[in-house]
Amino acid sequence: MTTAKTNIPIQNLKGVGTRLAEELGTLGITTVENLVDYYPYRYDNYELRNLADVQDQEMATVSGIIQSEPLLNYYGKKKSRLSVRVLSGRYLITVILFNRPFLKRSLTLGEPVTVTGKWDRNRAVLTSTDFKTGKPETHAQWAPVYPVKSGVSIKKMRTLIKQAFAQYPDCIQETLPESLRQAYKLIGKKEAVQIIHFPEERERLHQARRRLVYEEFLFYQLKLQAYKQMNRSSSIGNPIPVDQELVHKFIGLLPFAMTQAQNRVIDEILRDLASSSPMNRLLQGDVGSGKTVVAAIALYAAVTGGYQGALMAPTEILAEQHADYLEELFRPFGITVGLLTGSVRGKKRKALLEHLAEGSIHILVGTHALIQPEVLFQKLGFVVTDEQHRFGVRQRGALRLKGKEPDVLYMTATPIPRTLALSVFGDMDVSTIDELPGGRKKIKTYWVQENVMDRVLTFMKKELDQGRQAYVICPLIEESEQLDVQNALDVHAYLSQALPQYRVALMHGKLAPEEKEEVMNSFKDHKAQILVSTTVVEVGVNVPNASLMIIYDADRFGLSQLHQLRGRVGRGNTQSYCVLLADAKSEASREKMRMMTETTDGFKLSAYDLKLRGPGDFFGKKQSGVPSFKLADMVHDYRTLATARDDAAKLVSDSKFWHDEQYAQLRQPLIESGLTSSVHLD
Ligand code: ADP
Ligand code: MG
Repeated sequence: MTTAKTNIPIQNLKGVGTRLAEELGTLGITTVENLVDYYPYRYDNYELRNLADVQDQEMATVSGIIQSEPLLNYYGKKKSRLSVRVLSGRYLITVILFNRPFLKRSLTLGEPVTVTGKWDRNRAVLTSTDFKTGKPETHAQWAPVYPVKSGVSIKKMRTLIKQAFAQYPDCIQETLPESLRQAYKLIGKKEAVQIIHFPEERERLHQARRRLVYEEFLFYQLKLQAYKQMNRSSSIGNPIPVDQELVHKFIGLLPFAMTQAQNRVIDEILRDLASSSPMNRLLQGDVGSGKTVVAAIALYAAVTGGYQGALMAPTEILAEQHADYLEELFRPFGITVGLLTGSVRGKKRKALLEHLAEGSIHILVGTHALIQPEVLFQKLGFVVTDEQHRFGVRQRGALRLKGKEPDVLYMTATPIPRTLALSVFGDMDVSTIDELPGGRKKIKTYWVQENVMDRVLTFMKKELDQGRQAYVICPLIEESEQLDVQNALDVHAYLSQALPQYRVALMHGKLAPEEKEEVMNSFKDHKAQILVSTTVVEVGVNVPNASLMIIYDADRFGLSQLHQLRGRVGRGNTQSYCVLLADAKSEASREKMRMMTETTDGFKLSAYDLKLRGPGDFFGKKQSGVPSFKLADMVHDYRTLATARDDAAKLVSDSKFWHDEQYAQLRQPLIESGLTSSVHLD
């Protein structure tokens, strides 16, 4: 028996000529299989209603009998209004059809009609969007709505898909083996696809969706799991000879004791470093949980084990901060740290690169400047990328290629809900720091209206008088960096005037890197007491003496971002505060503000944020790597995702999966993308 995938060109379908084929091509549809795989994203509900139950201004579908001759009026250019009286139940209504004069012919006194439209109860008018003569069909209550572009109408899609089922009834092949279908009581693929396009009842639609969602997740997870397995077993990494005793001596010299959670993840990371398969690990932990020091310890282990290390940060400010920190930390041990950013140029840069290639620089810290081709290491064994979600998948991969299968640790302070971790990072191991260092006081968070700024000012002065420092994050105007800067200038001027005894520093995206560094340093060294900033201080910045965070327009930020911003304070052991200034007009905004005041648990907030914004938006628009599914929803269908993940992991590690006929369809996409079993094929 062969399982060769059929691929019927879309032109073979009756009614599809070159023009339409081209249009369909822009939707990614080139074969009949693509077409039937193109699922509706919602359904118009054409369930027949009784007008007595329809609210004013609600959309509804009703049926009735035509009671008058149609009346057609033209006005303006090509504009027309067709109206007719219809008796629907005990309601005599006026049905209005705009700009469809040709329908006049089909309106015959005494004939039945089915009309969908918006109901104006007071005037007894139904403004029709959809109109059919004849008795209402009993099915087709749900009409599929497809994501289409101008060249192909939704109606056309419906017709084409019907045609595809008629002309090629066997174009849909079963993908799931009998065993899985039985285990989860899933209906067949062909049936499911037909129902998803043309559902007749709710329960069947539910069954179809359940089946297809599982399949989508399973295919996705099979790739991740096969990739993970292949990485594990086929590539030979550098087993770094980690001197446990030496590393623990180093840890003992740090100014504080590690938390239990830190100790646990340190063990996980050191084990990975020492193992011969390359590490691919995500280190996640809430802001302030102490990830940086964990990375430093791992870097220490790698360097004392004879390798070079690299640390990539998303901004120059962060790169500099990390470099300063590591430099100071490692100086007593003779470990050298270099800093490479876009603003390191000329001779300095040349010398740095030479030392790196020679191996006299042990750790290179930098921005994405690190992945430029001329950056060559002598012996790179370990790579850390901080705030990894800000880098694209490619950038991350590029740094990895600088060494011979180096161990890679990705750090993120956006606690990733389990749902997302599973789907986006399914090919990684995950270490989680789920505990904050002891002695930390919970940041007290207040939400106030923007017009009470004078009271906030009094509070700020009190904090500053005690020797503390404050961040003030400026109103956000997303469309215009120029206006953001203007806002920052305004706030800066206002505070300088209101608190003349204190120095107010100003940070925004338009400053040159050297200027940014200067501003940051003045705040770090306590020369400035207030830092007014656009959101560039969002991640990672560490000034433990700062105890107050004020955020203008707080309701414009996402929850995760607010949490990140708030995480800039509360980093020492004094009580810290966060003040959210927001008018919060919508209920959703108010809910967001309430969440912020009620919890400081980043995992809780991010789970909530994910629910609010959906996975695509969660990391911001640029995020790469968040998969998009046709039907499946990572939040709603989370349990199915977890099930599919477990099933996929089991499947790829079973040699049967790679040989048996029943898995041929599931295997196919893996083999097409070059993933094969690394354990069981020989
Ligand atoms: P993250 O990068 O996870 O946001 P950092 O590594 O910047 O957190 O740590 C936040 C602050 O907590 C830093 O000032 C750091 O020195 C301090 N810190 C880290 N680990 C501990 C610990 N175990 N005990 C006390 N303070 C710690
Ligand atoms: Mg950090």
